[in-house]
Amino acid sequence: MKELKILFQNNEKWIEAKTSQDPEYFKRLAKDQNPLYLWIGCSDSRVPANEIVGLGGDELLVHRNVANIFPHTDFNCLSVLEFAVNILKVKHVIVCGHYGCGGVKAAMEDHHLGLVDNWLRHIRDVYAKNKEELEKIEDHRLRHNRLVELHVLQQVLNVCHTTIVQDAWFHKQPLFVHGWVYDMESGKLKDMNCCLSGSEQLESIYRVLPPSKYT
Ligand SMILES: [Zn+2]
Repeated sequence: MKELKILFQNNEKWIEAKTSQDPEYFKRLAKDQNPLYLWIGCSDSRVPANEIVGLGGDELLVHRNVANIFPHTDFNCLSVLEFAVNILKVKHVIVCGHYGCGGVKAAMEDHHLGLVDNWLRHIRDVYAKNKEELEKIEDHRLRHNRLVELHVLQQVLNVCHTTIVQDAWFHKQPLFVHGWVYDMESGKLKDMNCCLSGSEQLESIYRVLPPSKYT
């Protein structure tokens, strides 16, 4: 099939480009990965994590799902976070949303899409929590943009509320959790100036001490 053949051709070109710059590139990468960052972003094809931040294959661990949601009970999310924090010892976890996110748009509308509505419910919760602020914004696009931002901030908290992050903090492991938004129209990243690095920054109800604290 022509559509797929081109992917293999691209793969050959990519190998050639990589090895012409660095003949040991693949041998080195095959041995280990040592990323400093975990990126939690949207599956949207227009948000290519590595490209946006100019990092190579071994520098950024990436987890993407529909609308960059991080539910505290999702084993997929928790597994990648545990691997990143406990095994790879990443220093930064970045939750990155994006303006124009179809998942966020769908959550703002009352259409029935199917199974995905249950997933997007997490964004509806963010809307409900911030309804007063959001409904003051009359322009639909601006309201959507603000929901994208508020949603990112909530997912940052969800990451920090996990036992994984709080155990790391308790054991003095340097770990910073950030919230960013990507603007597809300009290519720019916006830092939401939200950077959490310790349990004291969380509301007390969400603080969980590791079991070793009690023994
Ligand atoms: Zn999206």
